[in-house]
Parts: sequence; C-alpha cells; structure tokens
Amino acid sequence: MGLWDKLRKALGGSAPAKTQGDPNAVWLYLRCGRCGTAYRVRVDRRNDLSREDGPGEFLVRKQAMDNKCFQLMEVEAWFDANYQIVSSEVSVGELITEEEYKAAQPS
Ligand SMILES: [Zn+2]
Repeated sequence: MGLWDKLRKALGGSAPAKTQGDPNAVWLYLRCGRCGTAYRVRVDRRNDLSREDGPGEFLVRKQAMDNKCFQLMEVEAWFDANYQIVSSEVSVGELITEEEYKAAQPS
C-alpha cells in the first residue's frame, strides 16, 4: 500500500487532466434564407444524435434561429461515423461551411 502511494506521488497525482475544449460539440453552420445572417448551432454528440436508417450514421434534427430576423429554421442533417455531414435539409435557409461562416463574421 505504501509503495502504491509512493508510486502515485511519483507519477504526479491520480486526477486525470481535464479534457480541454468541448469534445462533444459538433457545429452546424447555417445561413438564414431570409436575412442572410450566418450563424452556428451546437450539436451535442451525446444528446442530439440518433442512430437511424438513412444516408448516414447519425441523424440530428434541430431548430435554429438567427438573432437578426428571428427566422425559425428546421434543420435535418445526417452525419457519418466521423461526424461529417453527408446529407442535409434546411428550411428557410442553407447549411454553409465553417469557412463561409467565419468569412461572414465581422472582424
Ligand atoms: Zn434571418
């Protein structure tokens, strides 16, 4: 027992390092079809994805709203096993890439 304690101390404690960032987040980048605002919506890998039969591995259904004209958008997106979007349907708007989203942000 004493040996184990010594070992643990030597190894620098027992608490594992906290995971940095937001490892469960997958971001959907959207553009409002009414006012053109680009924004993003967080999808939680653990809570928002469901496994269903279809073009991809996981399906996510989300409602999203921009903060300019408050147009409600219905998003349905399929992800593959690597959380890449393989198919999507968006009402009143479109899915855009992270690059397009970043380009649309005021600097
Ligand atoms: Zn809008």
